[in-house]
Amino acid sequence: MKKILFYGAILLSSIWACTQVPISGRNQLLLVSDDEMNAMSFTSYKQFLDTNKVVPANTQQAAMVKRVGDRIAKAAQSYFEKNNAPDYLKSYQWQTELVQSNQVNAWCMPGGKMVVYTGILPITVNETGLAVVMGHEVSHAIAKHGSERMSQGMVAQGLLTAGQVGLGIAMQNKPSATKNLWNTVFNVAAPTGAQLGMLAFGRNQESEADHLGLIFMAMAGYNPQEAVSFWGRMAAQSGGAKASGLMSFLSTHPSDEKRIEDIKRLMPEALQYYNTSSKK
Ligand SMILES: [Zn+2]
Repeated sequence: MKKILFYGAILLSSIWACTQVPISGRNQLLLVSDDEMNAMSFTSYKQFLDTNKVVPANTQQAAMVKRVGDRIAKAAQSYFEKNNAPDYLKSYQWQTELVQSNQVNAWCMPGGKMVVYTGILPITVNETGLAVVMGHEVSHAIAKHGSERMSQGMVAQGLLTAGQVGLGIAMQNKPSATKNLWNTVFNVAAPTGAQLGMLAFGRNQESEADHLGLIFMAMAGYNPQEAVSFWGRMAAQSGGAKASGLMSFLSTHPSDEKRIEDIKRLMPEALQYYNTSSKK
């Protein structure tokens, strides 16, 4: 039995464990494929849009949200083309929607399905501020943080036996536990699907999304220095967070001095991308 587990571990590590997050270079364990994650993500996203108030694309605010999503997605694609990985985002189907809600939040599901709530627009203030938020959220999806969370949960909950990999296999082994794990990771509210995407990421995943987000927004032609202003506004408002409805974003994105210091430290790298971007 020990031997089987041992070979299982070797098989797991040889197939999956060598995955590296782009830009940061951090090693991550992924036991699920993009195709599997995206199929479930697209279903959850559609259910969410069907049960929430999507702002029509011909309004000024929705048009801005779509424009920022579009520019950041194009910047990310161009990053991977320049770094000899043109197929990295092949399975993504980018989509951005503005949703009417007082919640101060935004998110991007696996495969590039984004939502911005109208409640965050007073804090992003302008298009560049919105690019800070969307660059960050898109980066959670590009760094496959949701897949990483699912993989960790599948191992912790024993949804795969030694040597097994894949969301489909976990579904066959323990369908309801696997579905529950998905609902927990992506905060899918049953039965209406009224909530989605507000993940509690780890601190390392938050820092990574900040780093990648700065680079993608800069490549898209948005001045990354706006990130310091945005997180400063978030930090300033965090005292009255409960009253102003900020809790949902701040609970998953604590804005503190450490975060802002880290962003300042990354600024010279981000500015290099900004200074060579075509749209600045
Ligand atoms: Zn985040």
